[in-house]
Order: sequence, then C-alpha cells, then structure tokens
Amino acid sequence: MINSYIIHPKRIVVVGGSNNLSKPGGNALMNLKRGTFSGEIYVVNNKEVSVQGFKSYPHVRDIPSADLAIISVPATLCIETITLLAQEKNVKAFIVFSAGFSEESEQGALLEKELLRVVQTHNVCLIGPNCSGMFNMFHQSIFTQPIPLLQSDGVDMVSASGGTATFIIEAAFKLGVRFHSVWSVGNATQNGVEEILEYWDTSFCPTESSRIKLLYIENIRQPRKFLQHTSSLIAKGCHIVALKSGVSESGSRAASSHTGAIAGSDIAVDALFRKAGIIRCHSRQEMINVCAVLSQKPLKGKNIGIISQAGGPAVILTDALSAGGLNVPLLDQEKAALLKQQLLPGTATTNPIDLLGTGTADHLDKAISHCLNHHPELDALAVLYGNPGVGNVEEAYRILAERLASSPIPIYPIMPSVVMATKEMEEFIAKGNVCYHDEAILAKALSLVINRQSNTYETSSPTPSAHISQIRHVIQGIKQQEGWLSPEDTRALLQAGNIPMVKEFVSHNKEEIMQFASEIGFPVVLKVVGIVHKSDVGGVIVNIQTEEQLSVAFDKLMQIPNAQSVLLQPMLSGQELFIGAKYEEEFGYIVLCGLGGIFVDILKDVSYGLAPLSEQEARIMVRSLKSYPLIQGARGQKGINEQAFIDIIVRFSQMLPHAQEVKEIDLNPLLATEESITAVDARIYIKQQ
Ligand code: ADP
Ligand code: MG
Repeated sequence: MINSYIIHPKRIVVVGGSNNLSKPGGNALMNLKRGTFSGEIYVVNNKEVSVQGFKSYPHVRDIPSADLAIISVPATLCIETITLLAQEKNVKAFIVFSAGFSEESEQGALLEKELLRVVQTHNVCLIGPNCSGMFNMFHQSIFTQPIPLLQSDGVDMVSASGGTATFIIEAAFKLGVRFHSVWSVGNATQNGVEEILEYWDTSFCPTESSRIKLLYIENIRQPRKFLQHTSSLIAKGCHIVALKSGVSESGSRAASSHTGAIAGSDIAVDALFRKAGIIRCHSRQEMINVCAVLSQKPLKGKNIGIISQAGGPAVILTDALSAGGLNVPLLDQEKAALLKQQLLPGTATTNPIDLLGTGTADHLDKAISHCLNHHPELDALAVLYGNPGVGNVEEAYRILAERLASSPIPIYPIMPSVVMATKEMEEFIAKGNVCYHDEAILAKALSLVINRQSNTYETSSPTPSAHISQIRHVIQGIKQQEGWLSPEDTRALLQAGNIPMVKEFVSHNKEEIMQFASEIGFPVVLKVVGIVHKSDVGGVIVNIQTEEQLSVAFDKLMQIPNAQSVLLQPMLSGQELFIGAKYEEEFGYIVLCGLGGIFVDILKDVSYGLAPLSEQEARIMVRSLKSYPLIQGARGQKGINEQAFIDIIVRFSQMLPHAQEVKEIDLNPLLATEESITAVDARIYIKQQ
C-alpha cells in the first residue's frame, strides 16, 4: 500500500540517524539534509546529543509526531519501534533499512511476518526491510550515492536490489539520463515491484507523470498483477524497460539466495514481457542506453542518417543498425554533391556522412542542416563527434545541443572521447542532454526500442461462451484424477476447443478395426493405445495399404506390453507442425509452436507466448520461426495454410484458461497442406484440483 506520506512527507524521523556517514542511518540523513526535502527532520540516537547538526532525541517516544520514519536499527528492535511510531506518533509510512529478516534466517522470516502484521494492523506503508530506501523529487530517503539528476519527466525506477539500483544510477549519470523516482524494495514484504507498478498505474496522470519506467527484477511473484499494470501503463503511453536476472540455473540460485524467493521460468517471463510490450534488456548499460533513447524525441521510423568524424565508427554503426533491423539509406547523389562542396575535400556525403578527423564544428553544423532540410526520409540522425586531438569540441557540442533542441527528429549524439572531452561532455549533459559513448551500443538500444512488440494484453478475442461450457462439460466428465487422457477424452476436449483432429477409431477387436479401415479406405495408420511415446516402442505403423498388412500390424501392436487397444486413422500427408502448452504456476499457459519433428526436437526452433493469444500474437509467433520459409513454401515446395495454423494456435490458447486441470498438452504432429491442418496425435496430462 503506497500512500501520500511516503511520496510527499512533511516530517521525517530518522531512527538510528548517525554522525558516521558510512552507516546507512548516517548516509541517508546526509542525503536528506543535502537534498530537496523542505520539511522537518528529527533524528533519534540515544548515544549522541546532536547528529549532523540536528538535535538528537534519545528515544522515539520523545519526538513530535511525524509522517515518514526511516528505520536503521537492528532487526530485533524494528517491531517495537514501528509499533510505537504508528500508535503514538502518527507515522504513516516506513522505510526499513535493517537487514536480518527472511533473507537471513528462519527466525528472521518469522520476524518479517510479524513486521507485515504490524504494518497491516496500523494500515501504514512499508518499504523494505533490507532495502536501501527510495527517493523522488520531494525527499531522498536513501543511503546510497550518487543521487542522480532529478527531473519531473525523468525515469521512474523500481529495483529488487539496492546495490543494483545504485550502479544503474551511476551508468545513467554518465549519459545524462535523469530520474523522477527510485524505489529499492528490498524484501518487498508489503510493497514489491508489482505494488510499485500498481501505484504508478493507478496514480498515472497524462500531463504530469513520467513515461519511462525502469525495472530491475529478480523474481515475479504475482505475474498476473505484473502483466495487468505493465500493460495498462504501456497502454497509457509509458515505456517499460526491464532487466530480469536469474535466467540461467546458477543465476536463479544467486537470485533466490538474495531475495529469499525462487526465480520463475525464463520462457514464461519472456512471454509475459512480450505480451505487455516491455523492452527486455540484459545489462545495466543496455537499460540506460534504452532509457536515453526513450528520453529523446520519439523515433518514428527506421531510417537513420549518420554523421561521423571518422569512417570506422560510421561503418560499425551502419553494420549494427542493419543487424538490428534499421536502415542507413543511401542519400541522393545530386544533393550529396551540394553538401560535399561545403565540407573538406575527401569527405563522404551519401550516408554515412564522414566529416573526417579534421572536420570542424562548422562542418558538423552544415551536415546536420543538410540532412534536416533536404532529407525528409530520415527519421533520426546519429552524430559521432569526439576529440581526436584536433578541432574544437566545445563549439561542436554547443552546436549539437542547439540542434538537439530545435530538430524535429531525434539526434543521437555519440561522444567517444571519454578521456579527452570529459569536460565538454559534462557541460553538454548539464544542459539537459543525453549522450552515448559507443555507436554499436546505441544501435542495439535503437533496435530494442523500434522492434519491441506492441502491447497485446487486451487484444485477444474472448472464447465463445458455448465453447467454454462445452470445455467445462468435457473436463467434468473425466473420471481420472491425474494422468494422460485416453484417446476418447483427448478427442472430446479438442473438439470442444474446436481443434481439428483426424478421424479415428479405437478398438481391441480386430474385426471392428478391419471394418473401419474398409469404411475410410486405405492407406491407414495403426497406433498402439496405452503407451505415451508410441513410436519409441514401435507402436506406430504408417502407410498400411492392404487388409493383410493391417491384420499383421494389429497382431504386432497388441503384443506390445501394456497395449490396451489400437487406434486407426487415415494416412494423411503434409508438413508436420507442432503446438504445445505448459502450465506455469501463476503465469498460466505458455503456448509453444513450431514445425514438428527435428525442427522441434533437434533444432529447438519454437516460439512461444502467454495464453490466451490474440491473432496478432499468434502471427508474430509463427513468423518468428526460423523455419517460417517452409510455412510460406520454399525451393519449389508448397507452403501451408498459414492462417489456419494461426487460427488453431489462437483457439488452442483460448481453450486452456478454461481447462486449468490440463497441465501439459501437445499436438504433435499436426499435418498441414495448402488447404487444411489436422492434428494426428495429441497428448494431454491432467491433474484435477
Ligand atoms: P508418437 O508421437 O507417440 O510417437 P504419433 O502419433 O505422433 O506417435 O506418430 C508418429 C509419427 O507417425 C508422426 O510424427 C507422423 O510422422 C506419423 N503419423 C502419425 N499419424 C499419422 C497419420 N494419420 N498420417 C500420416 N502420418 C502419421
Ligand atoms: Mg506424436
């Protein structure tokens, strides 16, 4: 529960405030004192008379009332301190730095439970424990430095780790990225990442709120809440940039020991991020570069003009932009010749524009003017200018700053001279600008921004209610508590979900099987029933042409240990496809699709998304397969009915949320032709609640 007292307190008490700046209570007090907070500060410290110039109260009961308390005392003293402050001093919000809770021991976990109970009983807000604090434009109640440049439209960040937040801020400082608020949530006992997102979402004001949200996450405890608020924020025009650590198995171990919780499966996280439209990053630096791009004018297209002081970085940037799906269009030769006349002999002007190492600030200005005035096809400019030892960097950066402000399209300044032009860069940043230090890293950030998936949370069409009742009817009719469904139940469930399944007939009676084969006509396929992986035991015989062959096949399959009966299907032909889903606790169903056979088993060419999927999402999934050209038809081979594949994926994904007893399901293969797609094998594992 985030309340107004944590956002904009009038009186803050620092319990455990200290003269020792290397202690959290000392450092946070210093930040508060030096920062923007304009209200009353009280300090409680029973060993001192005055702390950093403030009168020191020996005990919390001695202070006047306050709105927010910063608690930096041993964990064992937290409960009584907070209880007293809430009961007697009207304190409505707490930031608890103290460690020694669930992250440390079982005893600590009990203490943390009690802490939660106390704050809930008193209906107050709690950040932490085991956190480094928070800051915004009104107060900087955090014990780390640096406090970044603050700006009302700066980045809002929430971080599962205080230390990581600090290092992200350091990286941001270097590029000139400003912040509006930072929350380090620590053990997230009452307020974690999801609650901060909820607060941002519900308090969002289109004219005032910052639109860039940065998340550092170690685990997603409430995926549905996370999805709901991130989607809603993105729908309101926000950009969300996130780094989720704990992707690898050993990474998860580090994350769980850090937060006392277990990291979720990464595929599910990835699917969730894509559904919401979150930009996923994999390093602090990458996140900050993306934030820098987002804090500039919006990039509306993929055509980038490059102006550089050296050929090398211009080519590196061109390569990196192309690899990231952006374009560096060749500029018109005639217009290029006009520009060439204004620059040094030997310059290149058809994009990239190379001013040469001796190119001056004036040349830079002319090149920018030329691009802005003559090339409306450009959506942005990337300008690389440093100090190779000659030239007036100060003047160039002054011009660049002016251009950044007046240009209708974004201009990305790449400033590579991190040693030779530090002063000029700092001046440039101090004017409110951002810069980048490396062209390839800028290109990666641009590609992450331009290629992000749009928010699709709200777009999936609802499952027809008739289907829902049919699905429920089938599930309720299943007697089994847990296990793989019989062919009959499998078929009934797929039918209820409107998934096309091949005609089939199950029996342990040879005559009946022969009879059915003569009705549907040869060739047929015979499969053993009662075994999950049929081919592994020789339990699938395809392309049976005659009654004699069928009779032999029947005898052979019925001899397989545990064979209950056999299943007869017509022999179909076509491209093998695969659709599957896995139930991930709290996330729901992760739907996977791909081409069947080796494409799934060996090449692992699958794409995935979070159910229910919209048509648009399913299309993106299909088209992002490496083997997509085979779906389209390649090298003389006919393609398949792509729309039918998409429709089945959508219906499959819509069925699942209504059949939560299904824990694992796959259709492998479906056989696809230009006309139609039919599943010939399905496996469903259920567990009744
Ligand atoms: P399992 O996955 O248990 O081994 P399947 O039913 O998937 O068994 O059959 C194995 C393979 O046999 C399939 O991948 C497919 O190549 C082929 N097959 C199965 N049923 C048919 C059918 N009706 N028509 C054509 N080929 C089939
Ligand atoms: Mg199969």
